Amino acid sequence: QSGANDLQTKADRLVQMSICASLARKFPKVTIIGEEELPPHDVAEDLIEDGHCEEILKKTCPPQYTGIKEEELVIWVDPLDGTKEYTEGLLDHVTVLIGIAYGGKAIAGVINQPYYNYEAGADAVLGRTIWGVLGIGAFGFELTEAPAGKHIIVTTRSHSSTLVNDCISALNPDSVIRVGGAGNKIIQLIEGKASAYVFASPGCKKWDTCAPEAILHAVGGKITDIHGNSFHYNKEVKHMNSAGVLATLRNYDYYASRIPNTVKQSLVP
Ligand code: AMP
Ligand code: MG
Ligand code: MG
Repeated sequence: QSGANDLQTKADRLVQMSICASLARKFPKVTIIGEEELPPHDVAEDLIEDGHCEEILKKTCPPQYTGIKEEELVIWVDPLDGTKEYTEGLLDHVTVLIGIAYGGKAIAGVINQPYYNYEAGADAVLGRTIWGVLGIGAFGFELTEAPAGKHIIVTTRSHSSTLVNDCISALNPDSVIRVGGAGNKIIQLIEGKASAYVFASPGCKKWDTCAPEAILHAVGGKITDIHGNSFHYNKEVKHMNSAGVLATLRNYDYYASRIPNTVKQSLVP
């Protein structure tokens, strides 16, 4: 544990070791940035994953990506997003996020939800993987529009503040959904549960937004900070998304135009 707002469990550490070591072995020249700071040591062989996904290999690579060199990619890894909720047993808030950036842009991402369906009974398949690539689309879920004419905001469950709540109030929503995880909140958008993800606070990091951004953008959505600035994912970038998050599948401008200036002034990019 590294602070009450910033928990780290054995799961966070093991999953990160597995993902980062497996990727590094297969793609030794890519830059991999994981959330957890881990002491350098050899990763147990049984944590190394060397499989691949047939489904992805059947898709045609968009022409703008065929010439990419391995060393030009940055992979952002959040081994366990929604750790606070995980420790409280809210297992379906938890996701594993792997985002791929090229030229500072999120171009591909995976959101794995290991405990999807955990309350759906013994016959239900546990867990799912949502993935997307700009120019190909996103898969592993059914794209669903939020109820027309309703403003349903999804936001943090465990990192609220006066500013976070003031910003939401100013948007005059019909309802507010408070759930853990940046990955989980993007799922709420693409499955039509919420119309906007609004988080007027620092706290979210690049590994929280890279994979979700690629998937959301692959289906025509938009994610920025609270000022409307897009995120950059080159390896030198500051990890913290200091000026919060605003994301929608549709009607981005409706929400962006209603963020109060007082809120914007409180959040320096
Ligand atoms: P949440 O919506 O609260 O689940 O936050 C989404 C992501 O941002 C999670 O990875 C959180 O750990 C991180 N995060 C948001 N706010 C904070 C904060 N105040 N301190 C530490 N991490 C935060
Ligand atoms: Mg996270
Ligand atoms: Mg995490």
